[in-house]
Amino acid sequence: MIEFKHWNEYGIRVGFTERTGGLSTESFSSLNLGLHVSDEYNCVIENRKLMCTEIGVPFEAMTFADQVHGVHVHVVGMNERGRGRLTIEDALAKADVLVTKEKDILLSAVFADCVPLWFADHEAGVIAVAHAGWRGTVAGVAKETIRVMIEQCGARLERIEAIIGPSIGGCCYEVDQKVADAVMPWLADLDENTIKSIIHSSNLTDRLHLDLKQLNRQIIISIGVSPKVVTVSSDCTSCDTARFYSHRAEHGRTGRMAGWIIRTETEVVT
Ligand SMILES: [Zn+2]
Repeated sequence: MIEFKHWNEYGIRVGFTERTGGLSTESFSSLNLGLHVSDEYNCVIENRKLMCTEIGVPFEAMTFADQVHGVHVHVVGMNERGRGRLTIEDALAKADVLVTKEKDILLSAVFADCVPLWFADHEAGVIAVAHAGWRGTVAGVAKETIRVMIEQCGARLERIEAIIGPSIGGCCYEVDQKVADAVMPWLADLDENTIKSIIHSSNLTDRLHLDLKQLNRQIIISIGVSPKVVTVSSDCTSCDTARFYSHRAEHGRTGRMAGWIIRTETEVVT
């Protein structure tokens, strides 16, 4: 388990699971947390309970959306705490972002190469987790998350901080021209070196490599979040399949890790 401790002093915990320590076998070995990947149902539920035990949060708090590579943001209320933990049908429909102002709701999203984004305005007590693959990224999922945090939950742009988690890196993520074309509008105002850090062609293969973490970082900064409060993980999920599930490296047959965030009972200044 990777824990990002940046916001602990505000009572906000953020983490990302690794693939070890669970009950699933074969391609899903072993801490698979995704219900939609044809793993044994009972193993996934037990793995979800193991994760909750490890972080000391009740299983009843674990809340999932039904992710669709879109930009819809669902603001989770107390009456929705625990949705989606047992079945996909019960998950919060067609959302790739969960936001809440409530305490003790474990916002959870599942990943295998896509980028986990976490946001917080600790003064307003607003937290978010977003699932950003290339489609969600170019459709503006980071922008939409921040908009909802501000307009519906009382967050303020100048107080929002962000963490970008483990995902497929520019080292491994080869993309075709269709993806590159979709990325281009987001690069319009950037200098040449920054663009090269986001998308470049490999000297060896001439294929295009996209760094989705850096692209999301630039998008978040372009919205107005200070670069000083945007943290980026250096972990590439495709480089290290002993620690991480990788959809790309394992040709689609693999499990899912969870990115999670929760605001605990610690006092929050308003
Ligand atoms: Zn890599």
